[in-house]
Amino acid sequence: MTFQALQTRETDGGYQTDLIERELSELGNEGVLVRVQWSSLNYKDALSATGNKGVTRKFPHTPGIDAVGVVEEAGDGPFSVGDAVICTGYDLGMNTDGGYAQYIRVPAEWLVPLPEGMAPRDAMVLGTAGLTAALCVESLLDTGVNPDQGPVLVTGATGGVGSVSVAILAKLGFEVVAVSGKEDAVEWLKTLGAAQVIDRATFLENAGKPMLKEQWAGAVDCVGGDALTTALKSVKYGGSVACCGLAGSPELNMTVFPFILRGINLLGVDSVELPVEIKQQMWQLLADEWIPGGMSKLEAAEIGLEEVNDWVARILKGGVRGRVVVRLP
Ligand code: NAP
Repeated sequence: MTFQALQTRETDGGYQTDLIERELSELGNEGVLVRVQWSSLNYKDALSATGNKGVTRKFPHTPGIDAVGVVEEAGDGPFSVGDAVICTGYDLGMNTDGGYAQYIRVPAEWLVPLPEGMAPRDAMVLGTAGLTAALCVESLLDTGVNPDQGPVLVTGATGGVGSVSVAILAKLGFEVVAVSGKEDAVEWLKTLGAAQVIDRATFLENAGKPMLKEQWAGAVDCVGGDALTTALKSVKYGGSVACCGLAGSPELNMTVFPFILRGINLLGVDSVELPVEIKQQMWQLLADEWIPGGMSKLEAAEIGLEEVNDWVARILKGGVRGRVVVRLP
């Protein structure tokens, strides 16, 4: 039996991604066979689809780190044929063929049940970005950050992780201050729940100073580099910064002063390898009490497999607002 898939392969001068027909037998016969309904486009997918060896070592390869669909062959795990499941992270879309295909075959331990009441498409509007946002918020709450302590900051606010973080934090009653490089996104960020939007350049004006005025109870940083250090230097005494991304830079250059003089916390967040039980808890929160207040306002461009190449180029330039869901035929 054949199925449609995007495949990235090495060419003479670089990498090329095409829509091809594959044989189901090429996926092997171990684990769970899932008929994919929706996937999503993340920054990491764009890296894989353009040959970044830090994400994908071996080509040809099908990108797509997120997938939601229905179990077609259950294997030995706890799932049954017909179950709706989500797969995000682990090796999916890295060196295991990913969600830009009508089928994936993955270990049962990589799957979480689609929470009751959550539409498959909404699961991918959230996707790895939503899961990561939930983990960032959870890590802030775990260290005691609460709405009574003052505003919380979100950097890279129009991106996937940033926009969902804004929406969840606003839903939980926080006063959210969003930092964005996109001037035309101010109204949209306010619709999502931001109380205030700071222009990226203004936010970074004093990035070189060792300490800044205490302003935030906590922060979610998706950008790294100067954005992360500025957040750390301006978080209030005892506050916390969840660090999940490097959209601006992987660097972290600063003194230890904010840590030793203000007792602040730098919280590392990983959504890829964390235990599946925690992923399941986060998905349940996203489906129930944490369902972003602005879920209907979370922007999601909907594209088919044939449009992925265009959107890969856009996300690599930082030009995507909100999320991109990929519809499988
Ligand atoms: P995204 O949709 O591409 O959003 C990134 C946002 O960062 C952009 O929309 C932009 O927001 C801002 N940005 C882009 N380039 C920038 C630059 N040069 N300097 C400063 N800001 C810049 O990506 P995403 O899916 O939200 O992911 C965000 C980051 O988290 C990425 O680095 C990704 O690899 C990482 N991530 C990590 C995990 C994890 O498990 N730790 C999971 C998912 C994603 P504004 O224009 O609004 O400023």
